[in-house]
Amino acid sequence: MLRIAVIGSGPAGVYAAGALVQQADVAVDVIDRLPSPFGLVRYGVAPDHPKIQSISAALAKVLETPGVRFLGNIEVGTDIQLADLHRFYDGVIFAHGASVDRRLGIPGEDLPGSTSATDFVAWYCGHPDAPQQFRLDASSVAVIGMGNVALDVARILAKSHEDLRSTDAPDHVLRALGASRVEDIHLIGRRGPAQAKFTTKELREFGEVAGVDVIVDPRELGLDEASQAAIAGDPVLKRNLDVLSEWAARPLAGHPRRVHVRFLQRPVEVLGDTEVTGLLLEGTELDAAGNATGTGLMSTLDAQMVLRSVGYRGLPVQGLPFDETTGTVPNVEGRVIRDGVVTRGEYVAGWIKRGPTGVIGTNKSDAKETVASLLDDAATLPPATERDPDAVLRLLKERGADVVTWDGWRAIQLTEARLGEAQGRARAKIADRAGLLRAAHGDEGGADDDPP
Ligand code: NAP
Repeated sequence: MLRIAVIGSGPAGVYAAGALVQQADVAVDVIDRLPSPFGLVRYGVAPDHPKIQSISAALAKVLETPGVRFLGNIEVGTDIQLADLHRFYDGVIFAHGASVDRRLGIPGEDLPGSTSATDFVAWYCGHPDAPQQFRLDASSVAVIGMGNVALDVARILAKSHEDLRSTDAPDHVLRALGASRVEDIHLIGRRGPAQAKFTTKELREFGEVAGVDVIVDPRELGLDEASQAAIAGDPVLKRNLDVLSEWAARPLAGHPRRVHVRFLQRPVEVLGDTEVTGLLLEGTELDAAGNATGTGLMSTLDAQMVLRSVGYRGLPVQGLPFDETTGTVPNVEGRVIRDGVVTRGEYVAGWIKRGPTGVIGTNKSDAKETVASLLDDAATLPPATERDPDAVLRLLKERGADVVTWDGWRAIQLTEARLGEAQGRARAKIADRAGLLRAAHGDEGGADDDPP
């Protein structure tokens, strides 16, 4: 029987574990640095997207399959090293994603009030490493980027407390969003509508948010020749443009909150002395290659908060090759390339393999490719020297690691359901690690008991 470790229990890791147990006689340990499984399904999907969150039920089925173990609260590089993994497993699949934000590289980016969408998402999803407090006293917020994450953060900011109270967001998040003073949210795209990365379903949702006017300047929907050709050849882009054009023609209803969708505006500087007071923008046009070039036409946007939502980036794992330019691990069909040589025994899947692109389902085919490579290599894998399944648990115990098993995760779920029930919602997330660990060990959860 093969013994395989999968690092990361998000969709890529769990799909890889599922593909492995389906196709081979294999024991899989899915290791995650968090006490809870499901990666961005738990800590990236917006709380008002319960249908996408429900993918966790399918992922749970895989983690409950005989032969698969969940070992949570274990960090590779801290609790266990790469060399240890090679002692206990014939192969290791790294599927730890892309956990940090990309930066803009403009002056003022680090002023108080300027932060990453990644941090804001982690906060409203109750990630245990996110700050517990998020200052929401801005009346005007600029969200930079035109991807689905930008839409998520703008939508959560735009929604009323009433719209969010039935979600699983932690209590302190609901309270802070309920007290938010935001009135204007500006979505800033450096290119045009034909280059926007969002998907139509997610875009359309804005038009349906109660109490919000969506404002689009029809002049910013003008298309150059290349953009016209792109839209003619891509039904998603065409549908996006239809939605935006409808909004551009819609009369304003005078709602208390407004989302301004801006194209062809490049952020030049985050303004302010001690905190954010605005954003300096330069108008752009597209060159022949479709890149944004500045027109020199500058404008200032009043904003007390700036959220950059310009993509995620992977982090290196000690001992594993890493390409700083792409933020991924160099690989061929999932096999890690080390010093120019394709390895046997080390693999990657998901965002750390291909970069932060695609939707959750994209990880299924991605993981399948990696697993096919691993199983093709099965006869030549460097075999684990310690094959007793308990050996890794003994080592972790010796090192003082507090492993959260699947039973521990089920105990967390029960506590979160109980916390939610008391407030008339299906569950309320516990947002701190100590609280998660207490719940995993059968003690009461760590969420505060002051209801939103
Ligand atoms: P993304 O789709 O890659 O979008 C990043 C945006 O940032 C693009 O509009 C990009 O514009 C812009 N950008 C990059 N660098 C910039 C700069 N220096 N200045 C100004 N703008 C800049 O990334 P994402 O929104 O983080 O999403 C990551 C992945 O997760 C995507 O595949 C997304 O579909 C997925 N996701 C899906 C859902 C869902 O299905 N509901 C929800 C969330 C996330 P350019 O094109 O000009 O570079």
